[in-house]
Amino acid sequence: MFDVIRIPAFKDNYIWLLHNGAAAAVVDPGDARPVLDVLRRERLSLTTILVTHHHADHQGGVSDLLAHHAAEVFGPAAESIAGITRPLRGGETIRIAACDDDFQVVAVPGHTLGHVAYYGAGCLFCGDTLFAGGCGRLFEGSAAQMAESLARLAALPDETAVYCAHEYTQANLRFALAVEPGNRRLQNRAAEVAAARARGAATVPSTIAIEKATNPFLRCREPEVLASTQRRAPEARDEVAVFGALREWKNAF
Ligand code: ZN
Ligand code: FE
Repeated sequence: MFDVIRIPAFKDNYIWLLHNGAAAAVVDPGDARPVLDVLRRERLSLTTILVTHHHADHQGGVSDLLAHHAAEVFGPAAESIAGITRPLRGGETIRIAACDDDFQVVAVPGHTLGHVAYYGAGCLFCGDTLFAGGCGRLFEGSAAQMAESLARLAALPDETAVYCAHEYTQANLRFALAVEPGNRRLQNRAAEVAAARARGAATVPSTIAIEKATNPFLRCREPEVLASTQRRAPEARDEVAVFGALREWKNAF
């Protein structure tokens, strides 16, 4: 058993801290300071750092954390990240001391080429791959790679809690409604999220079931998503092309 603490960082990042009351693991510590504050407040010792990809807002705090705590650092082998002691390519099973659970490492190229996600104990830590209501930008990978990565995550059990790394939900759902205005569950979710944000509440974690029902990037085969994307990109025929066109539409939205 373990608890998950949400640590807001920068403008809209979330750093996730898992702990069992004594040991802690942290996911994507872009900034060390708020993590050190929580470790001190909760009297926890940091034993594990999990990094999903090389962007500074996800790993910029690693070296400062290592100056205070002797932690092992898991992260993508294919990316240049200082401090990694356990390089990963995807497909590994890792044990996280702070939660006495095994996690699966999932290769999810697209946002970056080495991007990995961590899945275990009903929780998914997916960095900038899957967002609540959206997905990461294609900075390094192709639309085909990202579509396949998202399909891999969408195949996880419905009840899986999705811990993404940013509070982007409200803007994502605004776009989702432009794509799929007739989706009832999406309309309801957008209203709930707007209310949550109005009172300053977080909208993450989500679940795989919620994402499959409302996230247009997991719904490229739905007739309304297909039709509205093809209205803007008539040349997009197969599923990957539709996904790519949808991603480009979002970039310009
Ligand atoms: Zn990123
Ligand atoms: Fe990020």
